[in-house]
Amino acid sequence: MKIRLDKYLAEMGKGSRQDVKKLIRQKQAAVNGTTTTRPEAKVDTETDVVTVQGEEVPFVAFEYYMLNKPAGVLSASRDKKEKTVLDCVGKTKRKDLFPVGRLDKDTEGLLLITNDGEMAHRLLSPSYHVPKCYYVKVEGRFPEDIRQRFYEGINIGTAEKEEKTAPASLEILEEGEVSRVRLTICEGKYHQVKRMFLACGCQVVYLKRESMGSLQLDDSLKPGDCRLLTPKEIKELG
Ligand code: URA
Repeated sequence: MKIRLDKYLAEMGKGSRQDVKKLIRQKQAAVNGTTTTRPEAKVDTETDVVTVQGEEVPFVAFEYYMLNKPAGVLSASRDKKEKTVLDCVGKTKRKDLFPVGRLDKDTEGLLLITNDGEMAHRLLSPSYHVPKCYYVKVEGRFPEDIRQRFYEGINIGTAEKEEKTAPASLEILEEGEVSRVRLTICEGKYHQVKRMFLACGCQVVYLKRESMGSLQLDDSLKPGDCRLLTPKEIKELG
């Protein structure tokens, strides 16, 4: 792919478009060892070697981060008032990152952050049926037939406007004053997990996503921690 030198440097986090234009005009940038003062010079992102002040600036087309989203943070790119998941990622090469899907503000756990739109589409599109696994704490005990109801699909809409969920698998880990379960769903309707339990008369008090497709939340990431995906994880996500 061929792009302008100023775009290349801005995308690789060397400053705003204005900043990098200045840098280029001040003879700080070179392509394949030759200094250029033209911000519009075309660069091949695959074959050309770009340097700034003698240091190589490799082109990174896609970045993939795994975040253990903490409660209290918005699943949005940027927000004027509140902390977002992008604020948790810190310094990145790419400036066009976004979270793949949304977790509620009070939900914790696995969130993929990338600029790979095609991968995001594959993970989120209902036609791909990508399983998402959640660890859930619920107030009180469950109706006896809850596993069957989740498996058969449940109306999380209204009597007038039905919204039926696809088959979901529920593993009951513990029942008591606060019960614990693991739920796997293959869709991502708005507040789906909370609404599924609510439709069975149960209130979710804690929700954490543990996996999405082949991607498992790394146990060593504390809430708010983030790391790059490994090449193996990226490959497996397809
Ligand atoms: N379902 C919910 O209800 N909330 C989430 O954050 C994710 C799934």
